Amino acid sequence: MPTANIDPYESSGSLFECVECGGRVEAESNPGKCDGCGGEVRNLSVHQE
Ligand SMILES: [Zn+2]
Repeated sequence: MPTANIDPYESSGSLFECVECGGRVEAESNPGKCDGCGGEVRNLSVHQE
């Protein structure tokens, strides 16, 4: 098996992904909406660890 994926973004804050456009936002807490389209964002870091 390949080595585990290392997410370079997890070092600071959390990474959120827009469910509408797939845009990513890095923030300490959920920004609530996408900067680009205003869509809902989800926390990508929640699965890790
Ligand atoms: Zn978006």
